[in-house]
Amino acid sequence: MDRQDNGVSIKLKKSLQFNPQSLLFTATPLIRSKKISQILKINLLIKHDDFFEGPGGGSKYRKLKYILRRAEEQKCNAIITAGGNQSNHLRSTSILAAGLSMQVSAIIHDNEPMEYKGNLKLTSLCATNMSFVKMCDVKKAMDDEVINYIKDGCKPFYIWGGGHCVEGSFAYYEAVKELKDQLGDIVPDYIIHASGTGTTQAGLEIGVRQFYPECRILGISIARKKNKGKEVILESMKELNKALKNPVEIPTDIHFDDQFIGTGYESTFPGLLDTIAMAAKLEGIVLDPTYSGKAFHALTEYVKSGVIKKNSNVVFWHTGGLLNLTTSN
Ligand SMILES: *Cc1c(COP(=O)(O)O)cnc(C)c1O
Repeated sequence: MDRQDNGVSIKLKKSLQFNPQSLLFTATPLIRSKKISQILKINLLIKHDDFFEGPGGGSKYRKLKYILRRAEEQKCNAIITAGGNQSNHLRSTSILAAGLSMQVSAIIHDNEPMEYKGNLKLTSLCATNMSFVKMCDVKKAMDDEVINYIKDGCKPFYIWGGGHCVEGSFAYYEAVKELKDQLGDIVPDYIIHASGTGTTQAGLEIGVRQFYPECRILGISIARKKNKGKEVILESMKELNKALKNPVEIPTDIHFDDQFIGTGYESTFPGLLDTIAMAAKLEGIVLDPTYSGKAFHALTEYVKSGVIKKNSNVVFWHTGGLLNLTTSN
């Protein structure tokens, strides 16, 4: 089976005509932060995708609402996807797909732990089957699952790890419209968020260029080095732009900062933990050390260093990560 043909090379127009009741969702809250706004001397608004409907919340659900529409359109009934033990993508895919009566094969590129916790626990409850493989064997394991499903008379649908695809970016392009409805007369100067595969950032970048041309997206890398990260985001932007029939001009450079990663994915450092504690104590904003905490920490540092100007309107797009917090040390 050609994976490129499976949900990647698509026309978005079609998905707009499609109206699956089960994949509808409501807007996530936009809440003004009072105390932290005062302390940082900015107007801080939090877009709560950590409250996105579904167990554990988070941005992966928003992407999957669009990705799984594509799977339904193609009458697929089995999902094959990949991620690490604490993958929000695997958890969200397994839960949503089970709700749609689809089978799910979760290919996990980690050692199987003694005890299943957090995301892995939820994935194990909802997925049809899981296999733990080495990173270099992921592709083969996924292809083998495709063959097995076809043998069993099922129609499989392939999702790249992290939900990295044009439907995922389209979800965040649409999310800018959702934000615009909520902001009313307020024009955001900056939108800051945790950036991983770049799918979210690509959607936000295209969205703001269309709806808020003065606004800057500040992508905070949670793992990738600057050059590689930017390259992938610009690629995803081009792909989405093409699907949308060229609404905006693609820039040559974007903001993707790799200075807040620590020593790597899932690593923590004292300043990060202080920021997480501060946001929780002051306002009950719950951040995690793998994703949202790194972006929020960058926000506080950007205000100090002047990258974010005083009195500006800042939207912190909270992408979730609750279960990464509860399984961290
Ligand atoms: C996946 C994820 C991100 C990053 O999203 P990308 O589209 O991969 O860049 C950010 N925060 C959380 C909580 C995530 O699970």
